Amino acid sequence: MSQPTAQPLTGRLIFEKGTRESRCIEPPALDVPEIDLAEALDGAVRAEPPALAAVTEVDIARHYEHLASANFGVDTGFYPLGSCTMKYNAKVAEQACRLPGFAGAHPYQPEETAQGVLELMAGLADALAEVAGFPAVTLAPAAGAHGELTALMCFRAYHAANGDPRRRVIIPDSAHGTNPATVAMCGYEVTTVPSDARGGVDMDALRATLDTDVAALMLTNPNTLGLFDENILAITEAVHAVGALAYCDGANLNAILGKSRPGDMGFDALHINLHKTFGTPHGGGGPGAGPVCVTDALAPYLPGPLVERRDDGTFGLTWPERSIGRVRSFLGNVGVLVRAYAYIRALGGDGLAAVSEQAVLSANYLKERLRGAYELPYDRTCMHEFVLSGRRLRKEHGVRTLDVAKRLLDYGIHPPTVYFPLIVEEAIMIEPTETEGLETLDRFAEVMLRIAEEAAENPDLLHEAPLTTPVRRLDEARAVKQPDLAWRPDA
Ligand SMILES: *Cc1c(COP(=O)(O)O)cnc(C)c1O
Repeated sequence: MSQPTAQPLTGRLIFEKGTRESRCIEPPALDVPEIDLAEALDGAVRAEPPALAAVTEVDIARHYEHLASANFGVDTGFYPLGSCTMKYNAKVAEQACRLPGFAGAHPYQPEETAQGVLELMAGLADALAEVAGFPAVTLAPAAGAHGELTALMCFRAYHAANGDPRRRVIIPDSAHGTNPATVAMCGYEVTTVPSDARGGVDMDALRATLDTDVAALMLTNPNTLGLFDENILAITEAVHAVGALAYCDGANLNAILGKSRPGDMGFDALHINLHKTFGTPHGGGGPGAGPVCVTDALAPYLPGPLVERRDDGTFGLTWPERSIGRVRSFLGNVGVLVRAYAYIRALGGDGLAAVSEQAVLSANYLKERLRGAYELPYDRTCMHEFVLSGRRLRKEHGVRTLDVAKRLLDYGIHPPTVYFPLIVEEAIMIEPTETEGLETLDRFAEVMLRIAEEAAENPDLLHEAPLTTPVRRLDEARAVKQPDLAWRPDA
């Protein structure tokens, strides 16, 4: 295997390139009368000229090209970030959302001039309802976590309307951190249930904690170990038996498209991360979308406005009868919705089912290739992702999962999710997605196996990694606590 090669170190800030004296633009000759600005503005002008960057066109082009290529994205290389589903974002969806009718639509435009956008939104809601197995959908939430909050607020309103406010929400110990955060934001208390030896919810522990004070269960299925819960119907039945509601965190929908539906599993609500399952971009805090699907019983509480299909064939906005109100300005991240619709229409029903088949096949292929060199704590057929443990590397060679992740950067691969889920020691959570070819999967497997060998031969190399990136190991806590984001001329 070829050795990783060093990348050039990054340059300076644009303000530090070129001097103020270097003259880079030659404005055209003045064809209007010259005025004295200070006089015209009554002296309200700056004493010193602003410290603007002064660089030539080619230097500007190189500067931004350099910044763009310093970023790692799914268009740069393999990005097997478990739970986050970093699949390739098809460019056809980018083209669709740039069509002038969508890109130029204005939120205050009269309904009759925005029929195309509204029709697309109604079509997307129908498609998601079909995929997820629920009758009602809101497209408003801006992310998965926002969808969770929206759904739990609907649950709260539902229980309050029944005169039965409850206090607790049950969450398995494998859950994503947004789940307990949502519960707390909604004013409920978190009750954690353990996972059993097969990686599913421990049924005895669940039954033991279920009572009429439980408002809901929040469950990811397939779960964050990449495993489909074998007791899913018994779980939702037990939850309903005490009058509680069952919430499905749908971040892992990519595994079950066209195969099984959370609505059919007995869930009452589900959020969908369009930016995970339906090929819309995410990362960098950019816009995503977390539509929420619910049963008929919860539909009256959905946030408004919703798009409705009218009898005369036109589209308009409507408010559910007992709506919790607005959760997002205007109609949500419409550009993201257009991309998701384009993705769904481009693939069709069979195409979506093929996505899941391929995603599950890819994950199982990698799992089988890596299981010797890394420990596999839950040895079951996985869904679209699987979780390894670096526990043995740590015990035998003093190499941690973090070191393995950092070393992957030297091979040009974005590390998988690490140290999540919390129930697996030294966790490495790998999600290859359906969009990667066999060659990429094989290279990743070979790199991971090579790193395991490096751990045995030269553990210090891994402690030092990454060796080839513009910056090495960052103090992540300090970067969060003392962010230094502003440029000051004399700093
Ligand atoms: C990504 C994710 C979330 C949160 O979704 P965002 O869109 O990032 O807010 C919730 N649960 C699970 C399991 C996830 O993977």
